[in-house]
Amino acid sequence: MAGDEKPGKPEVCAVGGCGQPAVRSLSAKKVKQVLPDLKIGDVGRRAHLCRDHYKAFRKKTKEERELDRAAW
Ligand SMILES: [Zn+2]
Repeated sequence: MAGDEKPGKPEVCAVGGCGQPAVRSLSAKKVKQVLPDLKIGDVGRRAHLCRDHYKAFRKKTKEERELDRAAW
């Protein structure tokens, strides 16, 4: 058993029109907050993201953190 991987029930990316296999499950609220441009369907509390969209999410949250830290 490897983490939240469920054999037989592959999760796909929650972003509308993406359909790639999900690598991470995140708080849907947080994802919508960070990536408001993405069409996240009605996924409940957890949104599954594929590698590409998770990368975009990480990039965005990193930028936000760095903006915080670089308070001029
Ligand atoms: Zn995706």
